[in-house]
Amino acid sequence: MTTDRTDDWLEDGRARLARATLAPEAEAVGRVEQVSDGIARVSGLPDVRLNELLRFDGGRFGFALSLDADSIGAVLLDGEEGIAAGSPVRGTGEVVEVPVGPGLLGRVLDPLGRPLDGGGPVEAEAHAPAERPAPAIIERDLVSAPMETGILVVDALFALGRGQRELIVGDRATGKTSIAVDAMVNQKHSEVICVYVAVGQRATAVERVIEAVRAHGAPERCIFVVAPAATAPGLQWIAPFAGMTMAEYFRDRGQDALIIIDDLTKHAATHRELALLTREPPGREAYPGDVFYVHARLLERAAKLSAARGGGSLTALPVAETDAGNLSAYIPTNLISITDGQIVLGARLFAANQRPAVDVGLSVSRVGGKAQKKALRAVSGRVRLDYAQFLELEMFTRFGGMSDTRVKAQIARGERIRALLTQPRFAGLRMADQVALLAALADGALDALPPERFPALRARLPGHLDATAGPALAALGEGDALEDAVRAELVAAVTALAQTLAAEAGNTAETGAAP
Ligand code: ATP
Ligand code: MG
Repeated sequence: MTTDRTDDWLEDGRARLARATLAPEAEAVGRVEQVSDGIARVSGLPDVRLNELLRFDGGRFGFALSLDADSIGAVLLDGEEGIAAGSPVRGTGEVVEVPVGPGLLGRVLDPLGRPLDGGGPVEAEAHAPAERPAPAIIERDLVSAPMETGILVVDALFALGRGQRELIVGDRATGKTSIAVDAMVNQKHSEVICVYVAVGQRATAVERVIEAVRAHGAPERCIFVVAPAATAPGLQWIAPFAGMTMAEYFRDRGQDALIIIDDLTKHAATHRELALLTREPPGREAYPGDVFYVHARLLERAAKLSAARGGGSLTALPVAETDAGNLSAYIPTNLISITDGQIVLGARLFAANQRPAVDVGLSVSRVGGKAQKKALRAVSGRVRLDYAQFLELEMFTRFGGMSDTRVKAQIARGERIRALLTQPRFAGLRMADQVALLAALADGALDALPPERFPALRARLPGHLDATAGPALAALGEGDALEDAVRAELVAAVTALAQTLAAEAGNTAETGAAP
């Protein structure tokens, strides 16, 4: 009986062997046809999907960016060394993944999560695809909590909310990075996790950002994803997506995260370069038609999640560079239409030492106003109006005439608003400081203080409020609205400080005048 069975089994095995064709079907091996400029053209891998990770000789990786009928355009992630025409390529069946988890905090990494800070290997909790779908509409909630930047002109006039996407846009060297970094530094007062993605920048500029956050912020709650101009274009391309995935880890665990992408103009240029090399048809300004879709699907991942999804949020501050203030160029317009508003920086304002050089007329924040603290909203509405009127009046009065007292008063007030909105770097103001300043301004308590004294006022205010307006600060911290008694206490404190400063100014003027 047993023998019979064994025979059957043997017979069956032989028959199967006879039917089997011994072809190398388990692993498809393609061939590199050509390598240049960070792109490899690969043939012989018909089953590879878009964005699939490809393994080259020597353990190097790339991913499929374009699929043609008979070949693949693959973007190399590690440079071209050791890869030549004729060398083998294998599909991996996986997409590009990056490490995620709390072990990344405080680290400087390349877009694939490899350390660049000389520290030990990254302790990843898991790996997740760099490209992930954005949360669906029903998984989202309305933006409701403020993302405080400590920058008065932003928090008061263009308030940001957690889960919002706000573009920071301006010409070269107008302070774009500085605004983003200040927002990041200010999170030392919150629990927000920050991810700074540097794409296509000079290495020295990136170093300066990291140094600044280490010196002024909470670097232990930040991740730096760095792909400077010298890195393989493929790594630069994937960097914002990788950063998003790293930030989403925290968003998906009910935490609040902030991602800065500095900048998407350079990312678009890399995308254009890669697309042209993989022979995609160029469209407007020679960008391939899908650049809008690339940035839209990237930024859609920033969101405020519903309570059912844990209520976490991911706020995105993408940066874009304009040429001669031209906001209607292809990439800036795309980004403006994808985001929930833009902070526009003006080269002229910057040159006139109005820094941050926020152009109040062109900037807008579409969702953050609803998230702004009621106390701050109560005192900031007037400022925007007064300032806009002042800017117009200033234009007219530049041509002389118009010296009626009402106009003079309006101009004096406007000059003080301008002085208030000027703010040095790394000098973030707490919400209470901002409320106090704007309430005092509205009540005319600052009208007698010369604008030159405003830097001193700003610098001394936090300490002064701590010392003299403790109860008001506490009440503001607890409640949302601004009660009259609290407002009066804050205004009284600012008035006292302003008087001291004005008196000091008078004294110095006298001593200055003395021989
Ligand atoms: P790039 O186009 O090179 O990326 P950018 O627009 O990011 O430049 P920043 O590098 O942020 O500009 O700033 C340019 C210069 O302006 C820096 O030297 C910075 O210190 C200075 N700066 C920015 N903001 C302020 C400010 N609020 N007060 C004083 N100086 C500032
Ligand atoms: Mg910059």
